[in-house]
Amino acid sequence: MKSVLIKNGRIITASDQFQGDILIQDGKIAAIGKDLKVQTDEAIDATGKYIFPGGIDAHIHMNVPCSDGSISAGYDTDSIAAAVGGTTTILDYVLQENGLSLEESVRHWSEKAKLSAIDYGFHLIITQANDKTFNELNLLVEQGITSFKLFMANDIAMTDRELFRFMSEFKKLGCKACIHAENKEIILALQEKYVTEGNISPSYHAKSRPEPSEIEAINRAITLSELTGCPTLIAHISTTKGLKLVQNAKARGIPIHGESCPHYLLLSEDKYELEGHESAKYVLSPPLRNKENLQGLWRGVLNGSVDIISSDHNGFSYTKHKQLGKEDFRKIPNGAPGIEHRFGLIYHYGMEKGLDLSRFVELVSTNPAKIFGLYPQKGTIAPGSDADLVLFNPEAEQVITAKSQYQKSDYTPYEKTKLKGSVDTVLLRGEPIVHQGTFVGDLGKGNYLKRERFSTSLQKVTSAEI
Ligand SMILES: [Zn+2]
Repeated sequence: MKSVLIKNGRIITASDQFQGDILIQDGKIAAIGKDLKVQTDEAIDATGKYIFPGGIDAHIHMNVPCSDGSISAGYDTDSIAAAVGGTTTILDYVLQENGLSLEESVRHWSEKAKLSAIDYGFHLIITQANDKTFNELNLLVEQGITSFKLFMANDIAMTDRELFRFMSEFKKLGCKACIHAENKEIILALQEKYVTEGNISPSYHAKSRPEPSEIEAINRAITLSELTGCPTLIAHISTTKGLKLVQNAKARGIPIHGESCPHYLLLSEDKYELEGHESAKYVLSPPLRNKENLQGLWRGVLNGSVDIISSDHNGFSYTKHKQLGKEDFRKIPNGAPGIEHRFGLIYHYGMEKGLDLSRFVELVSTNPAKIFGLYPQKGTIAPGSDADLVLFNPEAEQVITAKSQYQKSDYTPYEKTKLKGSVDTVLLRGEPIVHQGTFVGDLGKGNYLKRERFSTSLQKVTSAEI
């Protein structure tokens, strides 16, 4: 049984902040205290460092197929990128492949995920809302997949009737719905209009997905959650008005959670005015918004309305994948790389805006674990929890560049962004996988995480204005 002692760090959880030592035995946290006097196989000095629970990125996409048959970056590179950035658990969205059952799709996905350098679990994107899929849900739940993504927009959108049917079943099974909330029909109408007028550049991606198309869909998703009782995460909220709807729904006792992403907090719609095809780098759905929305979302981050911050990582390359839509913005793969920098970006900008350290931990680790059935195995620093820990140097500085990043993409939306604070050491179940900012782990060491049903729902409701 291997033992490790981490000495004299500032331990930060979602509820506490204190100076102390952590004893790890056999990959789990065995004890926490001051000046622990024990003989261990290994000792790590954490003086001057914060010790956070490992980051949990609850929204990522690995190996996404593109229209030309190519696929985005996968576990071989981007699970390492996650680790270096302070993330020890990822929840990947398995795509139900055309003509395949859910179970077959998961089996395919699992083969690739076995390479992961960090622990991982799956959500499942339902693309065929038929009886066969419906009847399979129970089987997937038994395999530990307890959340499903339903689209209200794009070519895999469900009708309200289908959403109602599936969400009612999730409620019974103790699962969660993650909803991509945008109004399909409005977007299609606008896309058609712009393309007919000859407006095909990337900026029309954003123009065809205006704020009301998200707000309307969030409202409908909340209504469906209210009617079915299905615990529902509104994924990647990009508008203040959408977030307000979520906040009001929570106050009314509807089991709703709100997710946002670093790009909606840090990047604005002026990225769609870049020269040539450059704007394609920022083609995501929903699109980037104006500065007022950024400010509103930050207020929600600070006051508790936003429950989790995920990267919505898509490892597309600019020179390959993003060129697909050169003649038609509708063909640009949606999404951007972000798995590596979520933790560091939210720490840096959060501190600038007065975010409490415990609230930071809640957003990037504890709440994702609670919402998605991983708590307290993951998401906290407590006896019995997995020893997934990030030793973070608040004094170090780093500059984000595509050249120096581990993630495979040939660009980053945050090129040349300077950050205060940097990940120094990362432990995955007690094993160092990052040392002085460099990956020292191994591919294939990540465990598949079977997740719980009927997981904790967050009760916190804030009445503060956003
Ligand atoms: Zn996504």
